[in-house]
Amino acid sequence: MEKHLFFNYTHDQLADLIKSHGKEKFRAHQLFKWVYEKKELNPENMTNLAKNFRQEVPSIFDFSLPRVVSHLVSQDGTQKFLFEVDKGLTFEAVLIPASDRNTLCVSSEVGCNMACSFCFTGKQKLKRRLSVAEIVGQYMQVVGRISSDIRISNIVFMGMGEPLDNWQSVGPAIELLHDSRGINLSRKKITVSTSGLVPEIPLITEAGVRLAVSLNASNDEVRNQIMPINKKYPLHMLMQACREHARATRDRVTFEYVMLKDVNDEPKNALEVCELVKDVPCKINLIPFNEHPDSGFHRPESKKVYRFQEILLNRGFHTTIRRTMGRDIYAACGQLTSKYDGRPHAQEVATGVLG
Ligand code: SAH
Ligand code: SF4
Repeated sequence: MEKHLFFNYTHDQLADLIKSHGKEKFRAHQLFKWVYEKKELNPENMTNLAKNFRQEVPSIFDFSLPRVVSHLVSQDGTQKFLFEVDKGLTFEAVLIPASDRNTLCVSSEVGCNMACSFCFTGKQKLKRRLSVAEIVGQYMQVVGRISSDIRISNIVFMGMGEPLDNWQSVGPAIELLHDSRGINLSRKKITVSTSGLVPEIPLITEAGVRLAVSLNASNDEVRNQIMPINKKYPLHMLMQACREHARATRDRVTFEYVMLKDVNDEPKNALEVCELVKDVPCKINLIPFNEHPDSGFHRPESKKVYRFQEILLNRGFHTTIRRTMGRDIYAACGQLTSKYDGRPHAQEVATGVLG
């Protein structure tokens, strides 16, 4: 009989599965608590399970997690984990520490089909959507490898891939990350970032998690050039979806705006952004472009970024500039990749290599 991958199942699905094996449903709860609360993956150590059930568990479940092939620590404390699934398919998760929170940025796909022209991930077509186990597995592996005084407080789906292109896995993964019987992260500490798959945005609303939108342009003309998805779902549709999300959740939407030199970084672009988002409760996060070879795009000078921020702030928009983290280990936004080719070997630039 084929074993079931434990990390693919939500609590309720686990209970049904266990019942279908002729066991009491509460066994699911016991297993769930051992694995997600106590991080114990060896059934032999699950002492409150009946002995005969404990012996059967390994024949029913496979507790394997995506394999970590490298774990790098940046000078600034950012940690990057490279995972491998199948043969040679890799993806990354990044842990970003801050004084008030520790955020884990997870991937939802290997590669991405959205083909945004400035994005390193977008240069690699979609290779494979990740399973629930491979998404939750990023969290489980990271928790198992970092020092016990670092508690992951926030999860952002801002790694590789477009989460709304893989909701069949991202949806249940969110349930698992949130479930109070297990990992127990509040829904408000989970953020899903999308390039703007408008018809799927209500899924984020229904899941009760935070919405981030990669806006990246102040008008359709520029956005059509750098984000092909905009031709299908132009800005007026995107803004309408954002307004509806904000109304239903009473949450602010985060707009990410990658700043590209001479493309979208002029004061007139800032004024257009103000006009565009004026009736969406929101905050704006400016991300100075992280350069990568052959992208054809450049990072604007700092004073341009500050000027842009000032215009938004002066008009009452909560606007931050994202600090670039983990650049030395290629963990910054848009630098995540499923292969090493064409960039320095991560280990060569790392300041510390663990496990
Ligand atoms: N696919 C989703 C989730 C990935 S989030 C999305 O696009 O929203 C990745 C974020 O990093 C996006 O906001 C994207 O616009 C930004 N990004 C991509 N390449 C970048 C680069 N080279 N420099 C800075 N930010 C980048
Ligand atoms: Fe995909 Fe997001 Fe990169 Fe666009 S920015 S190619 S949607 S990962």
